[in-house]
Amino acid sequence: MRFDRVAVLDWSAEGRPKTGRDSIWLGIGDPGAVTTENLRTRRAAEARLGALVAEALARGERLLIGADFAFGYPSGFAAGLTGRAEALAVWAWLAGRIEDGADNANNRFAVAAEANRAFPGVGPFWFRPVGMDLPDLPLRGTERQGHGLPERREADLRAKGAQPVWKLGTPGAVGSQVLTGLPVLWRLRAAHPGRVAAWPLEPSDGAPVVLAEVFPSLLAGAVAEAERRDPSLPRDAHQVRLLAGALARLAAEGRLAPLMDPAGPEALLREEGWILGVGHEAALAAAAEEAGAGHTAAGRAGAPPALRPAPGGAAPDAAGELTPPRLRDDCFAMPQGVAWVPVDEALARLRAALHPVTGRETLPVAGAAGRILAEPCTARRANPPAANAAVDGYGFAHAATGEGVQRLPLLEGRAAAGQPHAATVPPGSALRILTGAILPEGVDTVVLEEDTATDGRMVAFDGPVKPRANTRRAGEDVAAGAEVLPAGHRLRPPDLALLSALGVGRVAVHRRLRVAVLSTGDELLADPAAPAAPHQIFDANRPMLLSLIAGWGHAAVDLGLARDDAEAIADRLDRGAAEADVILTSGGASAGDEDHVSRLLRTRGRLSSWRIALKPGRPLALALWQGVPVFGLPGNPVAALVCALVFARPALSLMAGGGWSEPEAFTVPAAFAKRKKPGRREFLRARIGADGCAEVFASEGSGRISGLVWATGLVELPDGAADIRPGTPVRFLPYSGFGL
Ligand code: AMP
Ligand code: MG
Repeated sequence: MRFDRVAVLDWSAEGRPKTGRDSIWLGIGDPGAVTTENLRTRRAAEARLGALVAEALARGERLLIGADFAFGYPSGFAAGLTGRAEALAVWAWLAGRIEDGADNANNRFAVAAEANRAFPGVGPFWFRPVGMDLPDLPLRGTERQGHGLPERREADLRAKGAQPVWKLGTPGAVGSQVLTGLPVLWRLRAAHPGRVAAWPLEPSDGAPVVLAEVFPSLLAGAVAEAERRDPSLPRDAHQVRLLAGALARLAAEGRLAPLMDPAGPEALLREEGWILGVGHEAALAAAAEEAGAGHTAAGRAGAPPALRPAPGGAAPDAAGELTPPRLRDDCFAMPQGVAWVPVDEALARLRAALHPVTGRETLPVAGAAGRILAEPCTARRANPPAANAAVDGYGFAHAATGEGVQRLPLLEGRAAAGQPHAATVPPGSALRILTGAILPEGVDTVVLEEDTATDGRMVAFDGPVKPRANTRRAGEDVAAGAEVLPAGHRLRPPDLALLSALGVGRVAVHRRLRVAVLSTGDELLADPAAPAAPHQIFDANRPMLLSLIAGWGHAAVDLGLARDDAEAIADRLDRGAAEADVILTSGGASAGDEDHVSRLLRTRGRLSSWRIALKPGRPLALALWQGVPVFGLPGNPVAALVCALVFARPALSLMAGGGWSEPEAFTVPAAFAKRKKPGRREFLRARIGADGCAEVFASEGSGRISGLVWATGLVELPDGAADIRPGTPVRFLPYSGFGL
């Protein structure tokens, strides 16, 4: 059980952004150094954890993340709620229901009330804010009865001071932390299948990243001592610092194994979870002390940014509004010294930094087109459910027919779709049968009407006929119970046909990703019908980006236009962070005098300007604003579209739960000539001519919107040098493959 790094999270269920006491603290223990961070919202914390995981995976390191809330509930809860006696089933259940906004507003009480409804009696969850109308969530613990669940988990009984997970409020309660914390861990785990494991709910020895429940009170003595020495920091800060230091020390020296060898039977551990280190308090305290001796200096220097801005780190803004993670902690941070990032590397980094952020909901299949499945779909019924006729004709038992002309007496009646024939067809007889009719008892073969002659009493046709000709076997298309569509699949019209045929009436889908769009620039006018002065131009990017987003199945949020003014832009970004999961801006993203978006994001939103080796493109600004990712696209409409297609599209798809998406590409002969130098990738506006060759637009000017319209796709020229002549194979990416 060695880990290169240990992060310890002190969670908070606060309903508003908060720093300081009782907010979210993160201690990061590296060999010989511990730093602490204070995160203002759960969104920000989730992004930070995602970045830590991505960083560990990218570096090939092992990371242990300890979180101070229960990973499971007392035994009986998981099975009662989900039908499976596994804590991870509860994680998924909660992840599908808890809605937690960028401003920390959340629906945890309503979700607890919903969980209570799965159990008899009153409870097990209790406490709600006075005035909240939730009859299924009792106000007091003593009102509960008959729910049948234990008050504490096995591990809670052994950890001094552990609170029951059912209590959602009143001082010291932990229940709300569990409800808001587990969905975050679930997404972290889902973002890297098989690489992030939750101990001891699943095997974790082989996983590079392990999530484990910790309980900082196991170090109560050391924490009290640290608080006495430095009362200026809240207890939470001391807790995460001491525990991260202690665990990092044990992990680095391979001494963690006994603390991760829980004392319960496996089934119980899978259902209730366990607390790392419970029963090993003395070893933890000793390790905290050893770590303390070595890290004091680093620990001081790494004081939390929200309270003591580190040099070069992010300071709270004037209103104390914003406490972004420090630059080196940014999920979009590029290593020092990276000048030009190749497109593929930028894409890989983006992919590692992001994760799905959407909750889920259940919808009728008919209303789910364009939505992304949150769970795989399985056939409730076979297709076809019963063997039936594939043509209009005559049905009979094959065994009673042979070579040469066959003459069979016709029975009374017929079998048609929706009108099954009840009686058996005896061998040697035939029955009129129509397409889609269930094969009656005795019929296994059908002869096509056009191949027969009949006088109404007999039917004649040429033998031999193939056994089972012109019939469809039951389940030949899909067997009952088969998994037909995976989670992450975006539903298209044919999918609705299949699901409906298979008796699937409702599907669990991701909520739509909310994507906000902002245009910036003093020269812009919003309304194309308005009179315009010569120095003014109409905003072309916003209608394009909003409709792209809608076409990709996301919910577009229009943030309008902002002047080139920091306060105006900050104001819109605040709105975007409150109303959306991700923000796209266009304009002002380079490093020039008038590039207010990048300047603002640099000072207040933890900007990483990625200089991508791409034409058309210029820098892509990536930042977090109040924990919400911001993609700063170039202002030029051509570059804005190319960057949106190449970078925003797969990133949004990943965040929406649909996974990373590669565009469709075809290799076709070029109809043009072009020499290009090595060093950057180029996208040219292109279309396929009548001869099947790729033509490119006459001008490469990035202001030429008419070229985007002329084109039906893009030709992608590689990063290296290229000497394209007519006939040279080139990659053509049709607009349709980008979802246009
Ligand atoms: P910027 O990235 O702000 O330097 O803008 C680059 C170019 O794109 C300038 O010529 C801008 O006028 C133009 N531009 C910026 N935003 C838009 C927009 N929303 N619609 C059309 N042109 C724009
Ligand atoms: Mg501008």
